[in-house]
Amino acid sequence: MKICFATNNAKKIEEVAAALKGLIEIVSLQEIGCTVELPETGDTLEHNAFEKARYVNHHFGVSCFADDTGLEVAALDGAPGVYSGRFAGEPRSDARNLSLLLEKMQGQTNRSARFRTLIALILDGKEYQFEGIAEGEITSSPSGEGGFGYDPIFQPHGFDRTFAALSLAEKNEISHRGKAVKALLNFLRAGKF
Ligand code: IMP
Repeated sequence: MKICFATNNAKKIEEVAAALKGLIEIVSLQEIGCTVELPETGDTLEHNAFEKARYVNHHFGVSCFADDTGLEVAALDGAPGVYSGRFAGEPRSDARNLSLLLEKMQGQTNRSARFRTLIALILDGKEYQFEGIAEGEITSSPSGEGGFGYDPIFQPHGFDRTFAALSLAEKNEISHRGKAVKALLNFLRAGKF
């Protein structure tokens, strides 16, 4: 089975392709000839994930899924949430987003945060959604060499290292996207669609 993963983030494709290996062949946007920036105009992860998936399905006629992820920080009332990618404004920059978050967390004792991923799937014209959550804490400084985005300052519960210091396999096992992908995988394996 071939499904397009509607993202321009090569790191995400790498993570998800590893998890789905053997069951599904992931096709990139480039491979289907989609080179535009996908629309993301909503104020919820659900809205944005479906907006991206519907765009690709409508314009390119392929089964596809899209994800939207937000980092929800308790002390910041759930911010940056759906705005995680644009937290420090445009053009988007992981480095500036991370610095801004650390700045806003200065002096905060409640460091609880969670990553939430919403996957919107359009398969043979029908829509489905899957969610994954990873709970953890915002560290006081960045550490670790891997990952992307806010990984260097997010320490998942039960670990003494940040996401950026985990191997891809370790991160996939416990991450928000890994869990959402597992739910997608179970659904596809069950074949009830
Ligand atoms: P989006 O899902 O690509 O819109 O991601 C929104 C923001 O969250 C971007 O700034 C990403 O870099 C960040 N982000 C998404 N997934 C992860 C992750 O697994 N780890 C760290 N940051 C992430």
